[in-house]
Parts: sequence; structure tokens; C-alpha cells
Amino acid sequence: MLSIDLIPCLSDNYIFLIHDEATGATGVVDPAEAGPVLKALEARGWRLTHILNTHHHLDHTGGNLALKEASGATIVGPKAEAARIPGIDRAVGEGDRVAFGAETAEVFDVPAHTAGHIAYWFAGSGAAFTGDTLFAMGCGRLFEGSAADMFAAMRKLERLPGETRVYCAHEYTESNGRFALSVEPDNGDLVRRMGEVRDLRARGLPTIPSTIALERATNPFMRAASAAELGARRAAKDSFR
Ligand code: ZN
Ligand code: FE
Repeated sequence: MLSIDLIPCLSDNYIFLIHDEATGATGVVDPAEAGPVLKALEARGWRLTHILNTHHHLDHTGGNLALKEASGATIVGPKAEAARIPGIDRAVGEGDRVAFGAETAEVFDVPAHTAGHIAYWFAGSGAAFTGDTLFAMGCGRLFEGSAADMFAAMRKLERLPGETRVYCAHEYTESNGRFALSVEPDNGDLVRRMGEVRDLRARGLPTIPSTIALERATNPFMRAASAAELGARRAAKDSFR
């Protein structure tokens, strides 16, 4: 089993520090910046071997070059955005497998937020890194793709085992949940979950990871019945206060 630590940074980003005790393999997913990662590595006495990017946005790749220079880590990122991933060594897409210590991540193409966005699924550890595609009770903005693209991405991710832990790259959960409640005020799972989320946030704690089962039950974008409905919800969320 991988150990997975959250490193909060910038205003609401999470960098994920992943480590395989048996082999010493150590990775970061979506390093927005290098400083907090270097500190975390030093505190644990680990050497960085992998950098995994889900998409090209700076708040997911900003630490790539400094971390690579400090550690020689291999940078893995989306094939369709390879030209925009600083320092990329290996470009991957749908169906590719990334070896990490004793584990393997399977790559899914989940474009919509950006045109080449990918997700990494570690089946052995039951963990998925979904970047800015699937958030807890939300989905990413449609910057480079359509509602139909996001609808297709949701279909891919909802098929993962329900117990799969979902590590998304932003702490947007409370705001997403308020919107979700406006869509489905009578969804009991959602009402319960929001109670837990408000409690965690009031104590300054992260709401991540979620699980695929929780998202199936409470995420208005995963629960949208059609691409058109997802698109209408995404547009409503863009202006929701
Ligand atoms: Zn993004
Ligand atoms: Fe982001």
C-alpha cells in the first residue's frame, strides 16, 4: 500500500506526496510549487523519484523544474499537453501504465478542464488522482473542452470501485457542496455529507480524499443524466454564490 500525504499550498491547492515503503519510491502529484515539497521530503528523509502531472496549469506544474533539478525525479505528464509540461520525460495517455515502486498506475484520458487532462489510478492502493477533473461534489471548469467531454470523463471515473479514494487537487468541497444542495436539496447522503464537511472545515481540516461511492451519491456533475444537464449545472455553478 502506498502512503499518501497531503501538502496544502497556495490558497486552496493540494500536492500529494506518495511513498512506497518497500522500494523507497517517492512521488508528488501536481506540484504547484517546490518549496513545501522539499520541506516535506527533508522531514521524512525521502528522495523524490517521480513527479506526476494531471494537466498543464501552473498551479499543478509550477514546482516541476526546481524539483527535478533538486532530485533528478522523472516527470510524467499528459501526452496531449506534453509541450506545456515543464521538464516532461514521459508522456502518457489512455491505457498507459506507470510503474511506481511495487505499484502501477493506470492512466485515463479525462479531457474537458484542459484538452489533454489525465487521471492516475493506483488499483493496488485503491487511490485515484483526478486533478481538476473530478472534485469532491464538483468538477473542473470547462476551459478547453465541452460538457460532453466532462460527461464522458465522469462515466470513466464512476466505473472505478466504490471504495477508491479520490484525491483531487483543490479544497473546493464546501463551496461545491453548497451548490450541490441547491441542485438536490432532498438528497439525504448529500445533506449528511455537508454536515461532515462543514465540521471538518470549521476545524481547518481537509475534506480530501473523497471516495468514488460518495461522489456517485452526492456529486451533481457525476449524477447529471446527460451532457446537456451537466453543462447547464456547470454554467449555473460558474455564477453560483
Ligand atoms: Zn487546472
Ligand atoms: Fe488547478
